[in-house]
Amino acid sequence: MLPEHLKVNEEGHLVVGGCDTVDLAEQFGTPLYVMDEGLIRKICRAYKDSFAMYYGGQGTPVYASKAFCCKEMCRIVKSEGFDLEIVSGGELYTALAAGFDPAHIHFNGNNKTCEEIRYALEQKVGHILVDNIEELHLIQKFSEVMNRVTTVSLRIKPGIDAHTHQFIRTGQIDSKFGFALETGEAMQAVQETLALPNLDLEGVQCHIGSQIFDIAPFVEAAKVMLQFMQDVREKTGVTVRVLDLGGGFGIRYTDADQPVPYNDYMREVSTAIHKKCRELSFPVPYVYIEPGRSVVGEAGLTLYTVGSVKEIPGVRNYVAVDGGMTDNPRYILYQSAYDVLLANHADRAPDYTATVAGRCCESGDLIQENVKMGKPKAGDLIAVLSTGAYNYSMASNYNRVCRPPVIMVRGGSPRVVVRRESYEDLIRNDL
Ligand SMILES: *Cc1c(COP(=O)(O)O)cnc(C)c1O
Repeated sequence: MLPEHLKVNEEGHLVVGGCDTVDLAEQFGTPLYVMDEGLIRKICRAYKDSFAMYYGGQGTPVYASKAFCCKEMCRIVKSEGFDLEIVSGGELYTALAAGFDPAHIHFNGNNKTCEEIRYALEQKVGHILVDNIEELHLIQKFSEVMNRVTTVSLRIKPGIDAHTHQFIRTGQIDSKFGFALETGEAMQAVQETLALPNLDLEGVQCHIGSQIFDIAPFVEAAKVMLQFMQDVREKTGVTVRVLDLGGGFGIRYTDADQPVPYNDYMREVSTAIHKKCRELSFPVPYVYIEPGRSVVGEAGLTLYTVGSVKEIPGVRNYVAVDGGMTDNPRYILYQSAYDVLLANHADRAPDYTATVAGRCCESGDLIQENVKMGKPKAGDLIAVLSTGAYNYSMASNYNRVCRPPVIMVRGGSPRVVVRRESYEDLIRNDL
């Protein structure tokens, strides 16, 4: 069963954004990242609409650019009225090159360098999320030298277990991110921030994990954070005005995943926020959420050409493709599940059990093990679905493999938004 945005045409070819994937592979080569721009924009609008509905505009979605970052993606979320979250100087540089207004950029990260902090301040980045005390003092120092007041929020660990893969769980106390609530570290950080003359504490932020399907941990996190805002008001007399609840909304990779409609999540969390604020007589804060994966994940697919099929009797069938861990390291990192289709025979019954292998000199370089797909042969085209997030952005040049291009498709027309890397690109910094 295909996701709604994908079709199969009369020739049995997989179609995305009105474009035949066989034509795309011929025109642009493989491996190839294909992104459905219409779906990205549809999801952006769903987030914007629910902010309008549940927060009366007193909130903004912030696209976590690490999920998929390039200039065109920054332009797309800008045109949809999103803010942008960055975690490095490189992401900031990309955003600025795309014309993104720095006042709407949020700078996160657990170990920003001095150069990055200075760069962000010079460029007038509007929101800095502070992760630790050393960073707090660095921002104070640079702000003083630059004779300015910098708006900051504090990254808090609310101690929520979001039942997800432990490598991507970041809300609990054993985490490298942020200030812990239960040890008193967070309150101390608030007091230190308020005592620093060149900092304006606008709010608090948390991010409880990724690929989460439950609404409950988000509701719980919102309540814990509001209680903390109330504790801050009692202890210091200061009312912080911003609550940033991070990202982490799950998407569908395979049938095993059943994401909550984002509107349901938005409704329940906003209901909990309004209720808790009434209970505490606390003014409803300005709310940010930071979706990354859910904005782009399902909109992407990767096309590969099959090079060989090795059937090892009683063991498994290796289907080797012209990409692998260099363009999608998520299987080797997290054993992530993906649906795989024979894109040039998408109408063929998925009765063949394949282990899709990459081309790197690494036995673990697999895209998927024992997945059901139509029976392939050399030269066939394979599509791996839901690769829009954390694929291109995590790609590497291991084995000096060139990174694939990214194509946006919309209304039947494709356009290149990231060119294919060349051998020349690979040696550009070699001396
Ligand atoms: C990674 C991250 C996000 C985005 O997470 P998704 O799971 O992609 O939605 C948002 N905020 C912060 C602080 C993050 O680290």
